[in-house]
Amino acid sequence: MANAQNGSESPQMTEQEMMAHLGNALDKMPQDVRIVLFAGDDPNDVFAQAARRTLKAFRQTSSKIKFEEYRPDHKLAAEWHVSTFPAMVFQPDRYNIHWNGAPVGEEGRTLVELLFLVGFENSKLSDQSKKMMADLDGPRRVKVFVSPSCPYCPQQSVNAVKAAVERPDLVSLEIVDIQANPAIAMEYEAHSVPQTFADDVLIGKGAQSEEIFIQSMIKYEEQRIFIPDIDAAELETDLVIVGGGPAGLTAGIYAKRAGLETALVEKGMLGGQVATTPVVENYPGFTSVGGKTLVDIMVNHALEYVTIFQGEEVVAIEPGNAPGDPIEVTTSRRKFRTRAVLLATGANHRHLGAPGENRFSGRGVSYCATCDGPLFKGKKVLMAGGGNSAVTEALYLHHMGADVTLVHRRDKLRAQDHLSKNLFDTGVPVLWDTEIKEIRGRERVTSVVLTNNQSGQVTEVPADGVFISIGYDPAVALARGIGVELTEEGYIKRDDRHRTNIPGIYSGGDVEGGYKQIVTAAGQGSEAAMAIFEDLINPYWKEAVV
Ligand code: NAP
Repeated sequence: MANAQNGSESPQMTEQEMMAHLGNALDKMPQDVRIVLFAGDDPNDVFAQAARRTLKAFRQTSSKIKFEEYRPDHKLAAEWHVSTFPAMVFQPDRYNIHWNGAPVGEEGRTLVELLFLVGFENSKLSDQSKKMMADLDGPRRVKVFVSPSCPYCPQQSVNAVKAAVERPDLVSLEIVDIQANPAIAMEYEAHSVPQTFADDVLIGKGAQSEEIFIQSMIKYEEQRIFIPDIDAAELETDLVIVGGGPAGLTAGIYAKRAGLETALVEKGMLGGQVATTPVVENYPGFTSVGGKTLVDIMVNHALEYVTIFQGEEVVAIEPGNAPGDPIEVTTSRRKFRTRAVLLATGANHRHLGAPGENRFSGRGVSYCATCDGPLFKGKKVLMAGGGNSAVTEALYLHHMGADVTLVHRRDKLRAQDHLSKNLFDTGVPVLWDTEIKEIRGRERVTSVVLTNNQSGQVTEVPADGVFISIGYDPAVALARGIGVELTEEGYIKRDDRHRTNIPGIYSGGDVEGGYKQIVTAAGQGSEAAMAIFEDLINPYWKEAVV
């Protein structure tokens, strides 16, 4: 119907014209596309009828579509492991793409894209996705649950088709219509669509961007951020931020918004300590939020502005000969020439220093309840510490089903009152005035030697795990290496504009000491970025030199 209401001249295509248009496009495909339908002849099977009707219509649009139909008991069904019906198999000689159900409703869009991807033998993946797919280390059986009324499903199904077309040697795909296959949907608990599994591991709820889908499939874990890989061996910037915790991420946002060309380098996990905190309470805007969730929100925000180099370690920083000279930052992958450096390196887990701690690290000793907690379900564990982290993590372990006891060196917790109350209310036992003196075991931890520092009594208690959450030490190795002055407590010494004693080198976040809250780290990051911007347009070191 012509759009008469707004007076537009362009008429919409009729269905017939649209099919003719589609047929012309399909005719240009270099390959014929073989579609094999397995379906019974029950006239009440609406899905079989719909699949048959749709595929016949496509066959009529283009001679490139080759359509065959067999009964469910045909030997090819067994040969291709087709066990639910109706089922369609696409280009079986080259690809492993199955579809259980009928391509109707929104799924019609998936079918059209699938035909072109298969007929052109081109995955149309982005360069970044192709790079990731080239490194895929083994087979993946991908299952995407969809429904004809879901407008987001085609995006996810097409992501998976692209992966199957890119790596037919490793990726097999099954699109499962939950209306046609309610029993399979129940088995996978796929109550919402799209939902995606790789080798039966849930890797995505909802539609994902292409790169996030590929990453999730490769890592067998739902990913929420994607950071493009950059090859350049040398880069010029105004600012290099070392560290991707709340301070570094916030500084990146503020610096880039101020117009500074900014690179953020993080050797490990973005978000720093926050990423491994089970629950963060009272970060403004959130009464309570998962640490990883908060980090993902921050990283996605930062990525709007700043280029992030993750998995890269800064190995050297060389300030220029004179203040204001370019500073050279060498990472494990490239060199940056920059006008300023912000050290937002945060802090590292503090160690107890008890015999056995290092030996059993990763074999019962852990510094991250969020990461390792699920492995200790039903097992006996001790949690060392009395601060907010230890109490939050003890509660997390308790809720994970571990038999956890808190071990604290004093008779009063350092943690906030409401967290302490929560701990007492849930009945997690606390060993007061108690220190861990030794961690024992053979292959793994089996027991822990404890001392009561009031009575001097020594006991050995059986344990499968020891979680240590006794605070953090500032990560100052890089700062120390270039002669940045430190405070008596070992933190970076800086002025109220976050300048260190070396012109062009600044600091922000936990590496500076202070309150060590996420919100204060973010605040320090923003302050530092603004100070750096002001210093670069009006360098204070010039006044000092003159
Ligand atoms: P923390 O507050 O410094 O507490 C460290 C705890 O470990 C203290 O109870 C301390 O005992 C104990 N400890 C230190 N060294 C020890 C040793 N060698 N042997 C035995 N015990 C030792 O550290 P944190 O709990 O990791 O927290 C770090 C920062 O993050 C804090 O500022 C905290 O408030 C913040 N945080 C906030 C949240 C939130 O949701 N808002 C959550 C987690 C953490 P003493 O008490 O005897 O000194």
